Amino acid sequence: MSDDLTRLSAADLAARLGAGDVTSVEVTQAHLDRIAAVDGAVNAFLHVSTDDALATARDVDSRRAAGEELHPLAGVPIAVKDVVVTKGMPTTAGSKILENWIPPYDATLVERIRAAGLPILGKTNMDEFAMGSSTEHSAYGNTRNPWDLDRIPGGSGGGSAAAVAAFEAPLAIGTDTGGSIRQPGAVTGTVGVKPTYGGVSRYGLIAMASSLDQAGPVTRTVLDSALLHELVGGHDPRDSTSIRGKVPALVEAAHQGAQGDLRGVRIGVVKELSGEGYQAGVSARFAESLDVLRGLGAEIVEVSCPHFDYALGAYYLIMPSEASSNLAKFDGMRFGLRVEPGDGPVTAERVMAATRGAGFGDEVKRRIILGTYALSAGYYDAYYGSAQKVRTLIQRDFDAAFAQADVLVSPTAPTTAFRFGEKLDDPLAMYLNDVATIPANLAGVPGMSVPSGLSDDGLPVGFQVLAPAKADDRMYRVGAALEAALETTWGGPLLDRAPALPTTELEGMSR
Ligand code: GLN
Repeated sequence: MSDDLTRLSAADLAARLGAGDVTSVEVTQAHLDRIAAVDGAVNAFLHVSTDDALATARDVDSRRAAGEELHPLAGVPIAVKDVVVTKGMPTTAGSKILENWIPPYDATLVERIRAAGLPILGKTNMDEFAMGSSTEHSAYGNTRNPWDLDRIPGGSGGGSAAAVAAFEAPLAIGTDTGGSIRQPGAVTGTVGVKPTYGGVSRYGLIAMASSLDQAGPVTRTVLDSALLHELVGGHDPRDSTSIRGKVPALVEAAHQGAQGDLRGVRIGVVKELSGEGYQAGVSARFAESLDVLRGLGAEIVEVSCPHFDYALGAYYLIMPSEASSNLAKFDGMRFGLRVEPGDGPVTAERVMAATRGAGFGDEVKRRIILGTYALSAGYYDAYYGSAQKVRTLIQRDFDAAFAQADVLVSPTAPTTAFRFGEKLDDPLAMYLNDVATIPANLAGVPGMSVPSGLSDDGLPVGFQVLAPAKADDRMYRVGAALEAALETTWGGPLLDRAPALPTTELEGMSR
């Protein structure tokens, strides 16, 4: 029984909980047992909050027993990326500089999760401060891809994606600045959604690049993402960039899509996001998925977004510029690590230098240096200013493309999961993982990655759907239609084909 519960989707768990077939304590314990059994191999979690999760589960069970009206997802457990602050629960952003830091408050999205009664299983591993595409930049060790333990789970949110793919959690929260929800989704065979910028509150997210960061769902089904997105989305007065107005009807759109009728929907294939540079198996699955969508009645058109070729370059100026400013607060004075210089006077400046030198990893230092340089007097116009102009051109490309198509599509990532170490010493090769995901962040439009099959190497491939800002419902409709049609041809969910994980009993899981 226990193992079976971990294989169910969040929607199915919610239905069983609502019907009284199972308690939240049973569901939560089943996932904690699964974490204890497989996380030694996967290392998706930096912290497992056993007591907190079970306390929430007991509370939900008693409220349900008392006949209280509960949120549909009440009692369904969730994992949260460690870049999101959680009151009383360690939050490191994958960095040594925040080791042992316990936040005094909850992010808005965490408040909403708690208020709805979802037990929080723990915090998931990530590239330090969300900088990376493989989770190899975590200060706390690699997370392994459940499909092949010698390979990366994507990044920066590799922990959240691996936790969901390994059936350690039915739901997870990720954050996406340039692809960190969608690319891990693609390489682990899970669903990942970056909402419209401003669609989910950033209050309580440890910022990397404030104009690009967005939190969103990581799940095994499109419907589960819709349920979680509706829960955490919506206006928050504590985030000045939060969208006023209602979240689109995402659950309804997912249900509609699953009916399999896409007549009247125009799907634009972005010319610049396919072809050269994409692994053969990735391109093949993409082409097949297009055929499937055509078969459901959609009209497939080709669109051109000529400035997307410059998106990566613009991103790697804007993102480090914002990050260099956001990370200035980690100074050894306010929170986390404090290192005093080994010799000489203990001045504020020397403590900051020693703390930042010891607390930040190489990738973080690289980006702080890059961003500080791009913002410096004399170079600001040439680098940061030019990048902002490119950003405007990319937004115009999207506007023109969305005049021709309701949604845009591409492969999510150019390759399947690569081996550990393969790209670690080559930052440019690592950055190229995000060519297809970055344009959405620069324009603030929403994006989703849905599993589209296995490449010739037997590893998952993701299909990306992009929609206009505030029209997130469109990608849920198309994503759910594709998911339903593909699962029919596969005879079940893609993750059913993932190899069994080695299990070990772990004592006292808490990093
Ligand atoms: N991989 C990209 C980067 O390294 C995106 C990271 C993210 O979305 N947080 O910046």
